[in-house]
Amino acid sequence: MDGVGEALSIRFNNLVYELQAAGEDVIVLSLGEAFFDLPLHPFDTLERPALFHYSHSRGLPALRARLASHYRDAYGVVVDPDTEILVTAGSKIAIHMSLMTLLSPGDEVVVPEPAWVSYTEQIRLCHGVPVTVPYDAGLDGIEARISERTRAIVVNSPNNPRGDVLSEAGWARLHALAERHDLFLLCDEAYSDFLPDGERFVSGGAGDAAKRHTLICNSTSKNLGMSGWRIGYVIARADVIDQVLKVNQHLVTCPATVLSLYVAEHFDDLLAVTRPQIRAVVAKRAEVARAAERLGIACLPGTATFYLFASIAPSELGSEAFCERLLRERHVSVVPGIGYGPSCDAFVRISIGTEPMDRTLAGLRAIRELVDETARTAA
Ligand code: PMP
Repeated sequence: MDGVGEALSIRFNNLVYELQAAGEDVIVLSLGEAFFDLPLHPFDTLERPALFHYSHSRGLPALRARLASHYRDAYGVVVDPDTEILVTAGSKIAIHMSLMTLLSPGDEVVVPEPAWVSYTEQIRLCHGVPVTVPYDAGLDGIEARISERTRAIVVNSPNNPRGDVLSEAGWARLHALAERHDLFLLCDEAYSDFLPDGERFVSGGAGDAAKRHTLICNSTSKNLGMSGWRIGYVIARADVIDQVLKVNQHLVTCPATVLSLYVAEHFDDLLAVTRPQIRAVVAKRAEVARAAERLGIACLPGTATFYLFASIAPSELGSEAFCERLLRERHVSVVPGIGYGPSCDAFVRISIGTEPMDRTLAGLRAIRELVDETARTAA
């Protein structure tokens, strides 16, 4: 385990909890979620005694059916609920189990930066080799890093932390690469609904109807605002899911039955309640992006999710030192860019999902001030 790093976003959030416990008011722009106003329906109407017990290790049939029809109706991806989907305890373990299924020791996985904090470490935990691509290298950079040992490419669209969305042309190129080099696209679609009006989400599954080389991971954490319930899923072709199933049976058994029953029962209601709140948070992102621009804080281009990946250049501090000072001196928490890969040390991730606008803007001003205070002076 010495070769595996801590999840920096989680480490910073733990620091926040400690400061808050000491009575400090922290502007929290580091949490990886948007807080929604959600109804809570009674649990005692759910099926007894089933709700107390283990359930099917592919996931509750009713939940699989509902998630499969959602992928068909919302994203045009046809999924057989009996064989092509597995529900487990969050998409984090879904991604890990997918990597366990795909990788033999020494296999390489191409990971474009900025990369969500767990991809590289999960690949290492599976005895694979992460091959990262600098944030500005584009699709050419991805292609250039494919070798004989490459087994998969991680595709996170919409991207955390960048907030950009892969275009149909981009997908076409990746699908062609996957076919040509006989590798998998591991598509992390956790933010699939966080797009502005008028922009369309393209699922990795849309360009590979037979799921020859596509694995999709998604969850209810972001799209339904229920991160703490730990309901995630993998979509892939039947023989791949059969392998993931074995990992799930040995590591997880099944996600919480009572929560699976609840989500299956109330899925439509949850969608109806969260859609307008997602639209609002995506609109807020655009407003914060404009405010950042006015303050001279450059962000990587993006319109989706509730994150901004903001440059802290010309600060002479590395992103981790910058975030520690921002938190301790100005009580604003953001996540260091270095957590998203070595090419990202001049960035921080700003999450706008949990604080009201005035506090978010105060956080931006604090970033601007600390950048100015620590700016490298010309020699
Ligand atoms: N993928 C991405 C890109 C994420 O940001 C997260 C959570 N922050 C996850 C996967 C994992 O989410 P969960 O396990 O809650 O489904």
